[in-house]
Amino acid sequence: MLSYEILLAGFWFLFGCIFGSFANVVQLRGNWRAIATGNSECPSCGHQLRWYELIPILSFVFQGARCRSCKKAISWQYPLGELIMGLFFLLAWRDGMITGSWLAAGCTAFALFWWQIIAAEDSKTYTVEPLYCVFAAVLSLVRGLLLGTGFAAFQGLIFGMVMIIVVRVAWWLFRREEGMGDGDIWIAAAIGALVGWPQVLVALWFAVMLGAVWGVAVLMMKRRGGERLMLPFGPFLVAGGCGAVLFGDTLLTWYLGTLYL
Ligand SMILES: [Zn+2]
Repeated sequence: MLSYEILLAGFWFLFGCIFGSFANVVQLRGNWRAIATGNSECPSCGHQLRWYELIPILSFVFQGARCRSCKKAISWQYPLGELIMGLFFLLAWRDGMITGSWLAAGCTAFALFWWQIIAAEDSKTYTVEPLYCVFAAVLSLVRGLLLGTGFAAFQGLIFGMVMIIVVRVAWWLFRREEGMGDGDIWIAAAIGALVGWPQVLVALWFAVMLGAVWGVAVLMMKRRGGERLMLPFGPFLVAGGCGAVLFGDTLLTWYLGTLYL
């Protein structure tokens, strides 16, 4: 029984890695319709990739991180994206194990698929395609409906949006500058919809903590004063969302426990 479960987890991880390749294609071509047209090629020389050059992570490793045709280095972001997506699908597998609904777990997996694309895009370009957030939010709401937690999912969506808007307005009032982009509102909505209420609080808490730690680390490494630090918040929101998926219930139970004592 246990070995069957591990086998199942392995399959979810594998599928995740494959979808990680698709996510790379979406980011590379900046267009989600690109998945449908297929045909991957080397961005440097245009060499059409054969099936054995498209095996997630392994192709990268065995080709020594180089294109087989032009020997140009392949970015480590490709295997990293595949690996992260594999781990995301493992999260979805865990979701299925907990809830017992594999249809809902499928929604989780594809919501996380868009999370990864959103995080990668925001960290590179400081912008987010709202449509990707809509995809993630809709999948999350469907998951909620399947599990009978649709209202909590909807509350999470609204709360995520409202919190970012509040922070944005407050920031503008105090600093007279834009602290967060419109994209963060969309991202927080998508993340809130998956983790739901009240776990969205945990997600935002994690995001702010991680963002602060990262920001301080970057400032210390730069050792230059007066320079305005530009950090995309999207990746931290996604990381915070993952933290909420993993530890949300535990942390909330613990925190509420300390209040009631
Ligand atoms: Zn090439």
